[in-house]
Amino acid sequence: MAIETKEFPNLSKDKGIFDDVRSFYSVQERLDTFKHSHWPFERGPCTPLKMAEAGFYYIGTESSPDAVRCVVCLTELEGWEEGDEPYKEHKSHSTSSSCPFLHVKDPYLITVGEVFKLEKKSLEYAINKAVKQLGDHYQKIEDYCQGQFDKLKELDS
Ligand SMILES: [Zn+2]
Repeated sequence: MAIETKEFPNLSKDKGIFDDVRSFYSVQERLDTFKHSHWPFERGPCTPLKMAEAGFYYIGTESSPDAVRCVVCLTELEGWEEGDEPYKEHKSHSTSSSCPFLHVKDPYLITVGEVFKLEKKSLEYAINKAVKQLGDHYQKIEDYCQGQFDKLKELDS
């Protein structure tokens, strides 16, 4: 399984904005996303298992073979180096400095109560990301329109 797009959330008409939010709350589910992938590291600190334990699942493509996303804070990381520690990288790059996943004591012993809390947080992150993306989108439209108005003004003078 590979998610073909890095556009997130996907705002196209035929998809819901949360269709790409995946609820991979077990290490095994996240690990499975690396199967038949382009993931480049099979040993060292960046193995698929270590990535899955640190909360990441695979979203890479042929052109971005090492892209992963956190199941909770939705931070996307690529450009991994062989010695990188997934947990440390997660902590230092998380969109919020304290991704709730990083507070889970044992990723193998996650409780139903914790899943509910993480799921709620994950949806909050997804909504914030969607709002930001929409804001960026409207800013581009506004800039374009302003450019056209400026051209019209030049024609008038
Ligand atoms: Zn996270």
